[in-house]
Amino acid sequence: MTKELKYSDEFIRLLADQYPTPFYLYDERMLREKARLFNRAFEWNAGYKEYFAVKANPNPELLKIFRSEGLGCDCSSLCELLICERLGIVGDDIMFTSNDTPVSEYAYAKKLNAIINLDDISDLGILEGCGGLPEVICFRWNPGALYNVSSVIGNPVEAKYGLTTEQLAVAFAAAKSKGVKRFGLHTMIASNLLDEEFFVLTARSLFERIVELRDRVGVNISFVNLGGGFGVAYKPEQTPLDLLKIGRAISGEYNKFFDGGDLSCKIFTESGRLVAAEAGVLVTRVIHKKDTYKKYVGVDASMANLMRPGMYGAYHHITVVGKSNVDGYSNETVDVVGSLCENCDKFAIDRNLPVLDIGDLLVIHDAGAHGYSMGFQYNGKLRCAELLLEESGDIRIIRRAETFDDYVATLNINNW
Ligand SMILES: *Cc1c(COP(=O)(O)O)cnc(C)c1O
Repeated sequence: MTKELKYSDEFIRLLADQYPTPFYLYDERMLREKARLFNRAFEWNAGYKEYFAVKANPNPELLKIFRSEGLGCDCSSLCELLICERLGIVGDDIMFTSNDTPVSEYAYAKKLNAIINLDDISDLGILEGCGGLPEVICFRWNPGALYNVSSVIGNPVEAKYGLTTEQLAVAFAAAKSKGVKRFGLHTMIASNLLDEEFFVLTARSLFERIVELRDRVGVNISFVNLGGGFGVAYKPEQTPLDLLKIGRAISGEYNKFFDGGDLSCKIFTESGRLVAAEAGVLVTRVIHKKDTYKKYVGVDASMANLMRPGMYGAYHHITVVGKSNVDGYSNETVDVVGSLCENCDKFAIDRNLPVLDIGDLLVIHDAGAHGYSMGFQYNGKLRCAELLLEESGDIRIIRRAETFDDYVATLNINNW
């Protein structure tokens, strides 16, 4: 099976002639399509909002595109809040979902009137100490052994996030007694899941908690946040999620609990991956070939540009400009590696690819989320540029590549 090529080979070649590799390339049209897909899937719910998980891709040009499609931002750190503030994204357009949160960050989220999602009952007192509680409070629920899925996050009982089911009642009762007016409930226990039923189950479990909390502590929860975790079909043989189908199924569950009038509840999501991953590729060039106990192909990108394969063993599809999807090239099995002095710096292990030559351009697919943003500078590696293919067809550099001056910017270099 092959993955659809998002950019023509000719186009990638032209870009690589103009911009030094490696670089990220995002497609505005596709980013908008994905944002609209979320809005369409939940259009039955008045007040629905997708809060794009900023950690997946904090480039302000992408955030601006998402904002123009009506998305909000899900932040979890001060820098993410500051980026949103600079873009004029504040108030209800920010969901602040953090854990182990410094007091100063709660204070800043409160200053921006963000919707604050608390990770523990103790956070209520901490937030109260930041000049009083806001009108709206959300709590993050960890369902524990209620349901268990294998995922990047792992078994919920072992996960550091959120409050237990029992603690929820105590937490909401406490918030209510302290004068909080509006309440929300959040959960996020899985990552990169392609099981549609899971998201419906998650929604139903949240709706059940709402009924339970209304009966037990008399709080009216006005929104639920289903979290992120919507998976991407990274492998060609995987079936992509049908988000519209998920939306319809959740609507069915919703109607069992709410009448849409007095009894209603807004639905929020905070996906990063499914919004941005497929619209982004990492373009890199073959600079070495090496035949030892295995066949290796060395490229000019490294794990410092895209950490997912090295960190999680994650699969990213790779195509070769001018050779994949073209007849007449024989294949061979290779490891595609970067130049870090770490053996996990591999984009692919035992991957069957057309026989590669020095200078060949590789396109690493589905890298638009948790790609550039997870980059780092270990081994003196500099982060690469990010390019945006605008809807008009123009190319814009939305982040330049780092230089040595950037690398030493935090040092007092004059004292060397
Ligand atoms: C990482 C994260 C997300 C986004 O996850 P995706 O896999 O990109 O959908 C959303 N919410 C929280 C709390 C997260 O930690």
